[in-house]
Amino acid sequence: MENKRTFERELPEGYREVFHFNAKSIKVGIIFNLIALAVLIAVMAVGRWIYIAAGEPAPRISLEGILRSVAMLGFIAAMVLYIVLHELVHGFCYKRMTGERLTFGISWSCAFCGVPNIYTYRKTSIIAASAPLILFTVLLVPMCAALMYVHPYLYMLGLFLFGLHLGGCSGDFYFVWILLFKYKNPDALMRDTGPEQFIFLPDSK
Ligand SMILES: [Zn+2]
Repeated sequence: MENKRTFERELPEGYREVFHFNAKSIKVGIIFNLIALAVLIAVMAVGRWIYIAAGEPAPRISLEGILRSVAMLGFIAAMVLYIVLHELVHGFCYKRMTGERLTFGISWSCAFCGVPNIYTYRKTSIIAASAPLILFTVLLVPMCAALMYVHPYLYMLGLFLFGLHLGGCSGDFYFVWILLFKYKNPDALMRDTGPEQFIFLPDSK
């Protein structure tokens, strides 16, 4: 009789494991990444051959071009790393000062970190909100200055990252600004859920 079941909830008796694949093992990881690299090179080579066979002049492959591509990939990795580190710096400050549970996430407009279950005092909020702005400005400005003497292309990529950092901090900057200059009461409390910030003032003050 034909077996019509599409699955079992548990491994029935009499079965034994005959195959185990672990992409996290170093050997498997290296082998499959080398295969991926070979496939990538083959795709590029075949594509180039088709291009020439179609009567187009051979696309120039220069060391400069390859190095620029590598630098661009490095830049994309640095950008992703920056976003993660930026939020971790907020989180580190909140955790050090409160010990409370954090929330991390990404919404349509920004990545965020908050400490949603508590109300923090003004000073705590100012430190946590301004930390990435200060830290990464201190790190990225000397980096850009150094890249200026390495290669103009790398300098432009560094500058681009610094611009993304400074522009991306506009929300943090705005929040810190109003706490510094508008809500100066040290008893003011903030609630930071991540994507949303609230400020509360005590009555009678
Ligand atoms: Zn931020």
